[in-house]
Amino acid sequence: MSPTPSRVLVLNSGSSSVKYQLLDMRGGDRLAAGLVERIGEKSARLKHTPVGGESREWSGSVPDHDAALKAVAAELAKDGLGLDSPELAAIGHRVVHGGKRFTEPTVVDDAVLAEIERLIPVAPLHNPAGLAGIRTAQALRPDLPQVAVFDTAFHTTMPESAARYAIDVETADAHRIRRYGFHGTSHAYVSRETAKLLGRAPEDVNVIVLHLGNGASASAVRGGRCVDTSMGLTPLEGLVMGTRSGDMDPAVIFHLMRVGGMSADEIDTLLNKRSGLIGLCGDNDMREIRRRVDAGDERARLAFEIYIHRLKKYIGAYYAVLGRVDAVAFTAGVGENAAPVREAAVAGLEGLGLAVDGELNAVRGDGARLVSPADARVAVAVVPTDEEMEIATQTYALVEKER
Ligand code: AMP
Repeated sequence: MSPTPSRVLVLNSGSSSVKYQLLDMRGGDRLAAGLVERIGEKSARLKHTPVGGESREWSGSVPDHDAALKAVAAELAKDGLGLDSPELAAIGHRVVHGGKRFTEPTVVDDAVLAEIERLIPVAPLHNPAGLAGIRTAQALRPDLPQVAVFDTAFHTTMPESAARYAIDVETADAHRIRRYGFHGTSHAYVSRETAKLLGRAPEDVNVIVLHLGNGASASAVRGGRCVDTSMGLTPLEGLVMGTRSGDMDPAVIFHLMRVGGMSADEIDTLLNKRSGLIGLCGDNDMREIRRRVDAGDERARLAFEIYIHRLKKYIGAYYAVLGRVDAVAFTAGVGENAAPVREAAVAGLEGLGLAVDGELNAVRGDGARLVSPADARVAVAVVPTDEEMEIATQTYALVEKER
């Protein structure tokens, strides 16, 4: 008898890229990982890394997601890990926007596809890419369960008091305007791993998760359930990000239209692509910003201070929302690597029981670790996120349940 299939291919389809990982869920091993970038441009690039083997790269024409996935399948096949393998149990897809309806990972059928499509107006850049990935994967392996794992799902437990904007209720409902939140897979994974690090059950722990990557979001997690998060209808709201403004007075938009003569599309580009750290100082990579700060660059210093000021406001706000906080967890590219960000974010918050230990914070490490002093009232943790593993875990759990 052949063994029960235990591999999951995770696909994270962005507007012009596909990231992928193949995992074996029996032992939790990563078998291969890779990335196709610049899909639809003149020369796309593929990088494929079989675990334990040499990376392979090539550039060439990849006109669309269909071609991208076929290229990925061809690379996997070279390592004997092709999509036709009977060991493949399912394909797990990251889907950015699941609206109010998708509160859990979901096996894709026609009705699910139609609903993801219906949500395109609230996620115009992201959901079409997710759909393209699912449709191509379905065509390649029509017999396999395709599972959609939604970025918004973890946040659907937010109470109405946190999810609703204070605008006219009929207008909001007619256009499905509310706080959905994003990076949910990461917030779910990191909050659970933080509880594990503390040696406690997730149900007993209140955590503020700070996902600080190029996109950035904060969440307040009470006993394993999200009660508030900083991103909103779209991933534009909240923290200062690499290229996005985060919070600001919405009247800035009317002002730019009426007085600045800008169109809605121009303002969309301004706030999503030319704001945040890059708008403030011309760089969005925290390594470069820190280097400039250390060299005495004023614009970089101000950008860093604005970034930290916003972060601090969210820590304070979510402290108040939760009432009792057991841990603050830093994750993603900046959160995991930038010790000065962690130090500055909690500086002066000793009154709230928050502090970092300078030495622990400066040490670079791979796994989840505490960076607060041993006697701290609130743990400060660095918890590397692993969205692909979380998507694979959720996907596999669902297909196992339905088997
Ligand atoms: P992510 O979106 O999670 O991949 O994070 C990407 C961002 O992480 C980059 O734009 C950098 O700002 C930041 N980053 C990555 N490595 C480092 C590092 N060693 N030190 C500081 N920031 C880093």
